[in-house]
Amino acid sequence: MTAQLNPRGDVAVLVPAAGAGVRLGPGAPKALRLLAGEPLLVHAVRRIAAAPSVHTIVVAAPATEVEAVRAMLAPVAPVTVVPGGAERQESVAAALAAVPGGPEIVLVHDAARALTPPHLVESVAAAVRDGHDAVIPVLPVVDTIKEVDATERVLGTVDRSALRAVQTPQGFRRSVLVAAHRSAGDALTDDAGLIEKQGGAVMCVPGSELALKITRPFDMALAEHLLTTGA
Ligand code: C5P
Repeated sequence: MTAQLNPRGDVAVLVPAAGAGVRLGPGAPKALRLLAGEPLLVHAVRRIAAAPSVHTIVVAAPATEVEAVRAMLAPVAPVTVVPGGAERQESVAAALAAVPGGPEIVLVHDAARALTPPHLVESVAAAVRDGHDAVIPVLPVVDTIKEVDATERVLGTVDRSALRAVQTPQGFRRSVLVAAHRSAGDALTDDAGLIEKQGGAVMCVPGSELALKITRPFDMALAEHLLTTGA
């Protein structure tokens, strides 16, 4: 059954899903790879659609797969599908341009974080609603981190207590994200980086282990296991 989105919701979620997934090895674009028999993108959209504040979902699909992605997601939730670009930032910009009037909070969520729980969508959106222009979910860094030179010689040890590993969904006041993309320069790997570069404040909220980014074959195996335990 297709999930209903909330017509009174104030959140649009953009899902960049146009990456090739080179680090997973040869095969389909990453968002279309199967996890427990379903594409990563289906897992991701199902969980986004279950978050009560979500009014709109816009997916940026690989340009050659737009029709296939539309057909794939139709039974899951009502979504808009647009062609993505060569860089993640272009895919996000294409999805942002397709958001209808209404939602004043925009979240950007990687399809590769397919097991992200709906409550994380809600907690990021809530922090934006509470007045923060840009919000990112984070986890503490558990490994010791070294800085190295080009020959792998250690230059020093970084104080990990001041470091955070950043996840998605990242949340923004809509006008702030639109302005950041309008004046974006170099491509960055996340959207909060655009706000930082322009001197804006970015606030952290607690992330979730389940929002892991499925990037390498090991992550896929871990995600399969998590699904069998009810994720
Ligand atoms: O490549 P990376 O793992 O950083 O990609 C993160 C997310 O951005 C993935 O969900 C991927 O599909 C998406 N992406 C995109 N368009 C691109 C490159 C990546 O939508 N050109």
